Parts: sequence; C-alpha cells; structure tokens
Amino acid sequence: MRASLCVLLLAVLLAVLLSLAAASTQSFTARVRKAHGHVSNEAERYWPPGHLFHSAVDAPAESVKHWGYEFTNHEENFYGPDSWAEYEPQCGGQKQTPIDLVSSAAQYDCALNSSPLQFTFAELRGNTLVNNGHAVQLNEQPGASQNRVVGGGLPAGVTYQFVQCHFHTASEHTLNGGLGAAELHFVYGNTAGYAFPDARELAVFGVLFKTGRENAALKPLTDALATGALNTVNSATTIASFNISSFLSASASYFTYAGSLTTPGGTTAAPGCRETVTWHVLSEYQEASAAQLELLHKAIGENTNRPVQPLNGRKVRTNVMPATTGGVGAAAGGSVNINFANMFAGLKVAA
Ligand SMILES: [Zn+2]
Repeated sequence: MRASLCVLLLAVLLAVLLSLAAASTQSFTARVRKAHGHVSNEAERYWPPGHLFHSAVDAPAESVKHWGYEFTNHEENFYGPDSWAEYEPQCGGQKQTPIDLVSSAAQYDCALNSSPLQFTFAELRGNTLVNNGHAVQLNEQPGASQNRVVGGGLPAGVTYQFVQCHFHTASEHTLNGGLGAAELHFVYGNTAGYAFPDARELAVFGVLFKTGRENAALKPLTDALATGALNTVNSATTIASFNISSFLSASASYFTYAGSLTTPGGTTAAPGCRETVTWHVLSEYQEASAAQLELLHKAIGENTNRPVQPLNGRKVRTNVMPATTGGVGAAAGGSVNINFANMFAGLKVAA
C-alpha cells in the first residue's frame, strides 16, 4: 500500500515536471519566434531582401552610404545636406554654392558690361535625356562643343564649352531670400581641359523659374518627362532639339561669384562640391507652367535643392546698375515665398 502510494506520488511529480518543461519550451519558442519576427521586419525595412543572413559577405555593401537631399538617417545609410561635409570634407569649404543673392548687397561692376558675356550657340550634338537619380540631365556629346561662352564674370582669356544641363526643384539659389520653383543649370567646361584647381575649370549658368505661362523652350524636355520614360533611375530617352539660346543671352541681367558644384559624390580626381566654378545666375525669373514644373519635380520625386550656404566674405557682382532698375530683385517680377513646411518635410523633430 505504501509502495503504491509512492509510485502515485512519483507519477504526479513526473507529470508536473513534464508539464512545466513543456510550458517552458513553449514560452521559449514563442520568444524566439517573436524576436525572429522583429528582426525580419527590421531587415525588410533596412536591407534588400535575402541579404540578412550573409552579413559577413555583405558587410561592406551595407556600410556604403548614399547622399541625398533629405535629412541624414544613419539607420538607412543615408546622409543629407546637413552631413555632406562629414563624409566629403570639400562640401564644408568656404566657397560653397548655392547662396542667397541679395540685390542691395551685390556690387555693380561696369567691367561686366564693357566686356559682356558672348555666347556662341549651335545645335546640341546629343539629345539624350538621362535620369541619374539626383537630376534629369541633357548631355552634349563629348568633344569640342560649338556652344561656347567668354566674357562677363568669367576669368579673362578663358573660353568655355557646353557640357550638360540639368534641373533642380526647387531652386538652389535664392533671389533676395525668395526660392524659385526650379533652377536650370547650364554647365560649361574650360576648352583647355578641366585640370584647374580654381574657378577657371567650370562656368555654370543658373536660371530660376517661377510658376506662370507654359514655357515653349522647355517643352521638348517636359514632353519627354510626360511620357514616363524617365521615371526610374538610370532611365534615358531622346528628345527633340533643345535651344540653350532660349534661356541665356548676352543681354541678361545676372549676379556672378566664385562658388562650387552643388552636389557631393564624383570621383577622387573630380570630387563633388569642389570650388572650381564661376557662377552666373540670372536675376530675372523665367516662367514655366504649373504642369511643367510638376513634371520636373516628379522626375526625381523629392526636392533636389541644396540649402543656401554662407557667403564667407565672397564678393557678388552684378551687371545691373541699381539706380536704373530699382533693385535687381524687383525687376524679377516678385519672388516666390519660401515654403518652410515643404523645405523641412524630411526633418524628424522629437516631440
Ligand atoms: Zn546643378
């Protein structure tokens, strides 16, 4: 009787132990499943699918950082204008572009008119429009372009030839604090080559746009965008002829100053943000329709304008006598107000 009681007690004890063990295993499994699920979700957000379990192989790729225009997100290996200089020191230089162009602070220089800009325009040898992921760009075929420019604020005796043009939305430069809806950059290079460590290397002409009438000269470009052929990175399409002369002219009013490329990236030999650019920015807005401007913006899908940089004592010259215009900015027909909500849409503010 005592023996059978012992067996019964042992059986009960064993049953209790087994059920405890089972409960413990279940709980452990649940914890693992939950943790795994969490890791998996994060992986789907931050890494390409299928790369999670090859960290040794993929470690270098995962550490590659990409520049862009939204504010830095280290978790996504993404750095914005607030951190460009952290990764590419030249972006923290003293002669960076863009800047705010203030008509009352610009220095009228009569030499700009005695030796005006002289453009030579020719049919572009190249009509391929490319979405490079940061901008929509039209390249002249490599070689000696017949589109040339000398004079104005350019270094004396240097001739520049057209290389490419591309868009930013909104504008990069501001005119008297006002932001344009878009800015077109015409990039020219020194005909003697690009091996100059100073403003002799490149000449860039900036044209700011505001919303208004449809711009016929832009139509070859915006019509191509409307087809959707440039909606993905590295996509390209051919366009009808594009006339630089519709945007730039010898009689244009402008600001000129020594600045930089406005994007990081590039190569060791030709880094982004390098301070080798003589800038001319037209002081009057050109117009484009709301539909055209929307197509330009949608091509990249986010704002592509670097915030304005410190002047750091640089001299900004203009070819417009203040007395004859009542202010360079006033001649622009009004500036566009900065939309701060839009500019800082990517900024995450702690509550
Ligand atoms: Zn640009």
